[in-house]
Amino acid sequence: MKTLTNATHDPSLKSWVASANSGATDFPIQNLPYGRFRRAGVDEPWRIGVAIGDQVLDLHLAYRQAPWADEVRPLLEPLAAGDLHAFMALGAPAWHVLRAALSAALAEGSEQAPFLELCLLPQLQCEMSLPCRIGDYTDFYSGIHHATTIGKLFRPDNPLLPNYKWVPIGYHGRASSIGLGGTVKRPQGQTRAPDAAAPGFGPCQKLDYELEVGAFVGRANALGEPVPMDQAEDALFGLVLLNDWSARDIQAWEYQPLGPFLSKSFASSISPWIVTMEALAPFRRPFTRPAGDPQPLPYLDSGFNRAAGAIDMILEVWLQTAAMLDAGQPAVRLSQSNLTDAYWTWAQMLVHHASNGCNLQVGDLLGSGTLSGPKEGTYASLMELSANGRQPITLPGGEIRAFLQDGDTVTLRAFCAAAGAVRIGLGEVSGTIAG
Ligand code: MN
Repeated sequence: MKTLTNATHDPSLKSWVASANSGATDFPIQNLPYGRFRRAGVDEPWRIGVAIGDQVLDLHLAYRQAPWADEVRPLLEPLAAGDLHAFMALGAPAWHVLRAALSAALAEGSEQAPFLELCLLPQLQCEMSLPCRIGDYTDFYSGIHHATTIGKLFRPDNPLLPNYKWVPIGYHGRASSIGLGGTVKRPQGQTRAPDAAAPGFGPCQKLDYELEVGAFVGRANALGEPVPMDQAEDALFGLVLLNDWSARDIQAWEYQPLGPFLSKSFASSISPWIVTMEALAPFRRPFTRPAGDPQPLPYLDSGFNRAAGAIDMILEVWLQTAAMLDAGQPAVRLSQSNLTDAYWTWAQMLVHHASNGCNLQVGDLLGSGTLSGPKEGTYASLMELSANGRQPITLPGGEIRAFLQDGDTVTLRAFCAAAGAVRIGLGEVSGTIAG
């Protein structure tokens, strides 16, 4: 197995940007995620930046104002032009070279520091946009504990359908309604109450969130040419948080026989910083199957995937209601789970997606599916937490919730921590429900 980590992951590495060395930031020098930003309130072109501590390194300025090695300049060029898509299309070797260059440039003692100091902007003064154009969006269902808990609500004796442990389940989502959160409008839709003779149309009454991780595809495959497992890792650029907002009452009525449709397409929210797969190297873990479960079919199997296909990432959901906000009460954590609970790895999901010849494109987004754990405290949707509304949860201030109310703010967070590595985070994505 190739060595995954390199000098950019060295835990002793410090940055001349002081806030990157705090130990608490999501964005130490070992992370270096990409995002698209501009100065808040200023109508100027969007730029690509790298988050470092509580600052953003403006790559438009950095390209012009600092000296860079000859092999680095062409890699920075598309980023300086505000085009993350074009940079991703340069491929994994380019991603690797630029990460090394940015790490060296931002490290203590860097000769570029005096130039790059002038290219920083506090994140608090930034407005973020989607990091790149998202071509297609596919949402998988890799959270086996979520699938089991939801399945039990409807089929207590047979929660997992027979295909689950063999084929990565997914559906084609809607790319145009993906945003960064903020205000999320409660959808209207067609629903039918269990005892009603006919459906009606109106505001969703069972609005839910789904805690997921999203992966940006960084390499295209031609139509008709599947991606083998040994090329899958190089086709994955990086990860973001993903909230797959879900209208459970609309979903229950519409989803058979073709799957989710308008119950999902009204909004999905991602976090603004793409944490690269290379940054996640120290947190890779073996991919294993519980004893007695089938092993993946050969096209979804590889030595590398078995040795390091999984990623150890802590995932959290936080809720603050309008009443809590008014009373000065902080958000409460509803769940904490881990990406290692996914039943399929990113490589397997990507390979399966392309296995019929489907052409994935740079900038496509893959969703993991809801990442719940197996026990209380790890349920990553309200549908699980409240048993589809039958057992509402009580919040610290005494309010109860079966599903989301107007004014509720849902925040997803994620971070990776491991012995011998500096903690890195994905940042957060937050959305507030409006009626
Ligand atoms: Mn989902």
